[in-house]
Amino acid sequence: MKIRTGFGYDVHQLREGLDFWLGGIKIPHTHGALGHSDADVLIHVICDALLGAANLRDIGYHFSDKDPQYKGIDSKILLQRVVALLTENGYAIGNIDSTVCLQEPKVNPHIPAMKTCLAEVMNIPEDDISVKATTTEKLGFVGTKEGVAAYATVLIYKD
Ligand SMILES: [Zn+2]
Repeated sequence: MKIRTGFGYDVHQLREGLDFWLGGIKIPHTHGALGHSDADVLIHVICDALLGAANLRDIGYHFSDKDPQYKGIDSKILLQRVVALLTENGYAIGNIDSTVCLQEPKVNPHIPAMKTCLAEVMNIPEDDISVKATTTEKLGFVGTKEGVAAYATVLIYKD
């Protein structure tokens, strides 16, 4: 069996009045993330970690932010396409671990819904998806509420 790991990192600015999509669900908040797509930072890092693990470049390579067909696109569609790419290359997902860095609102109450959503999109068990959350103790662009960041690592395998 061939086992590989991958890593993803992403940042988005937060702006007042935008919808805030995170982990495939809409979080009630005064601010949302700015981006060409729906700016779902958690899905973006999972996509990048999966693509990296399979050595298939990154999310910007496959879904350019200059391409109008991806304007405002639901990142769940991008994640579905990434999983399909991995499947075409013979890979299955072992597990995903992720961390969202956000000063506010609290992410923890939304984690169960995110896991349910992500499991459905990727067609894997919820038990194989970990989502964690942290503030940055009011330090840096996350701490000043200017942005949201996320990290993910994944394990993929092929027989
Ligand atoms: Zn992004």
